[in-house]
Amino acid sequence: MNNIIIFTDCGDTIIDETTQTYAEDGTVLDADFLPGAKDTLKYFKDAGYRIAMVADGTYQSFANMYEKNGMRYCFEEWIISEVVGAEKPARIMFETAMEKMGLTDADKPRIVMIGNNLKRDIAGANRFGITSIWIDWSKRYFNEIEEPDWQPDYTVHEPKELIPLIAELEENFKS
Ligand SMILES: [Mg+2]
Repeated sequence: MNNIIIFTDCGDTIIDETTQTYAEDGTVLDADFLPGAKDTLKYFKDAGYRIAMVADGTYQSFANMYEKNGMRYCFEEWIISEVVGAEKPARIMFETAMEKMGLTDADKPRIVMIGNNLKRDIAGANRFGITSIWIDWSKRYFNEIEEPDWQPDYTVHEPKELIPLIAELEENFKS
């Protein structure tokens, strides 16, 4: 039984945003994974981790991407800004994820939030009181620490580095 519960962003965390194709209305039609992201996601799913996507965008964009790539089954829940009515770093995005997964404040030490955007993903997780993991693979968005609470707890450079990091966090949790 795993201790750690995984919340993750999508764009430039799992999906390479430079590969996204769009409909005229801006809906994402299709996209490719970051190098190693598909195998990493599958690894955590197969290892029994509970995974929620906490992402800003439209429901249909994520439905299109994950229908085509066949990886929707890896996520227990999708927390999407269009549906929630707020974007990260808003607390409600993380609160909704916890609520949908039946988690309480006592579970917060077990939750990690993985994301590429310091202003949205990392600051949001830090303020909410869960562990933040920054993936700095893309330099597209906020990637300089401009505020004290943008400082990630952990940093990885690409998805596959999450496997040993989560293993380490599991060990720390036990001791
Ligand atoms: Mg992102």
